[in-house]
Amino acid sequence: MYISLMETPKSPSTVNHRIREGLSRIATAMRSDDWDRAKASGLNPTQLAILELLESRQNGLGVREIAANLGVSQPSATDSIAALERKGLLSKGSAGTDRRAVNVAITPEGISVIEAARSSEGVIAQSVDALAGHEQEDLLITLVKMIRHLQDVDAIPIQRMCATCRYFAPFAHSDAAKPHHCHFVDAAFGQRDIRIDCREHETADPSFRAATWDVFQQG
Ligand code: SF4
Repeated sequence: MYISLMETPKSPSTVNHRIREGLSRIATAMRSDDWDRAKASGLNPTQLAILELLESRQNGLGVREIAANLGVSQPSATDSIAALERKGLLSKGSAGTDRRAVNVAITPEGISVIEAARSSEGVIAQSVDALAGHEQEDLLITLVKMIRHLQDVDAIPIQRMCATCRYFAPFAHSDAAKPHHCHFVDAAFGQRDIRIDCREHETADPSFRAATWDVFQQG
């Protein structure tokens, strides 16, 4: 007897549920990759993630910002920062005029650890490489849309994506291969060059971000 997939009530099959199942499997593999890379550096994944977060932030970040970006509690972030400081991979200083606030910055030794960890790519990088070019591009844009939603509902801090950058001009050009413009470098670029974490990013004001997003997603 033929039983269709839709007749298996014990197995929820909404597309939303199945996508989350898929993301969960990918998250499992990413955690495994992170453990391998961190272990090779003599760190744990949270410590390595803190170094990666601070790598391109010359002015450092406060403990609260670090915790929010990593999705961990402030006490947990504080413990990891203390461990990294003992290893000489981070340094702490006062943040601006508020002498009680602590600013955390990566040291040259910390940068060296990041560079060594980067040399070993894991299975997730291989699985992305296995996608066709157009599939990579579609996935990148889908991720940007999901991340943007998570930002909007305050689930994560604003990321340094083109979609929130004051230099971003989506679909400013008629060239289908390079429709966007970055006013920071004054150059056209394509969908697959859209940034998730750009060092030159400067957050646009909310009205600019909303207008930019409208153009981007309708493009
Ligand atoms: S500065 Fe970076 S984030 Fe901003 S538009 Fe250019 S590439 Fe995108």
